[in-house]
Amino acid sequence: MFCPKCQSEYSGGQSECPECNIGLVDGLPPEDRLNNARFVHLMTASDGIGANLAKSVLEEHGICCSITENLNDFLPGAFAGTLAAKPLSCPVAIQVLSSELEEARRLLKTVGGFEFEE
Ligand SMILES: [Zn+2]
Repeated sequence: MFCPKCQSEYSGGQSECPECNIGLVDGLPPEDRLNNARFVHLMTASDGIGANLAKSVLEEHGICCSITENLNDFLPGAFAGTLAAKPLSCPVAIQVLSSELEEARRLLKTVGGFEFEE
């Protein structure tokens, strides 16, 4: 819980800030969330085409996202060193802001055709 005025965080049972005497809120205002924003993993597309499709859907709805194409980071260990088992297309990870993760998931589920690891 946070005080919307002085932005102190309270983990106890308080429902209002003892210094400002105003009710605590669950999250900080949007500008503060953006300042503390971190990208978190949303999904891994099987290739760049799927990743770009998801990206365009997300950006159409104002969701900021980042695409990371790095085979080594996202292949399971079983694939490491076994060239024959490597897929021809490179898996692409899509990241979104942690504050927009739930919305992004809901959005892609609505659109359909995207797979999530949950
Ligand atoms: Zn306060």
